[in-house]
Amino acid sequence: MTAPVQRPLLLLDVDGPLNPYAAKPERRPAGYATFRMRPASWSASPAASRPYGRLRAAEYVKPLRVWLDPDHGRQLRALPFELVWATTWMHEANDWIAPALGLPELPVIEWPSADMHRQDPEGLHWKTRHVAHWARGRAFAWVDDELTDADHAWIAARHDRPALLHHVDPRRGLTTDDFAALETWAMRSAGR
Ligand SMILES: [Mg+2]
Repeated sequence: MTAPVQRPLLLLDVDGPLNPYAAKPERRPAGYATFRMRPASWSASPAASRPYGRLRAAEYVKPLRVWLDPDHGRQLRALPFELVWATTWMHEANDWIAPALGLPELPVIEWPSADMHRQDPEGLHWKTRHVAHWARGRAFAWVDDELTDADHAWIAARHDRPALLHHVDPRRGLTTDDFAALETWAMRSAGR
C-alpha cells in the first residue's frame, strides 16, 4: 500500500500577489474589481481611527480599497497545492478575501503583532522565520512581494524539503506566468 501523496503548501500573501496595491491608483489592472473592506484590525488602527488625531467611530472609518481578481480563486484552487494564508490579514483573510475570491476557509499562519515589520538581525523578511517553522517537514511555495536574496538563501540552507520563494510584482499581482511557474514547480517537486 502506498501512502497518499501529500500536496505541497502554497503560502499566500494578500497585499502584492492578490491585491496589486502598487499599481497606479488611477489605473486598476485589467481583470480586477474594487472592493471596499473594513476588517476590524484596520478600523482599530491609528491610521484609520484617528486620521486627523481625533478618534473616529468605527462606522465612519474610511474603508480599505482592495483590488482583487475574482478569477484568482478558481485559478488557485486548480493548482496542485494546499492553500494557506501567510499575510498580515491573518484570520481576516478568511472573512474578507476568501469570500471575494470564492475560496474556502484556509489555514492561517499567525504572527505576533509585535513581530510584524520588525527588523531581522540577519536581514530576513519578518515573516521568514515564522514561515520556516510553520512549514517544517513540508514542501512549500510562498508567493510574496517583499522577499529578498537573504530569504532565499536562509530557507535554502535550512528547509529540508523543496521550497520555492516566488516573488510577485505588487504593481501587477499574480499573472498567468506566475500560475504556470507554480504549477511547474509543484509537478517537479512531487514526491521529492
Ligand atoms: Mg505583501
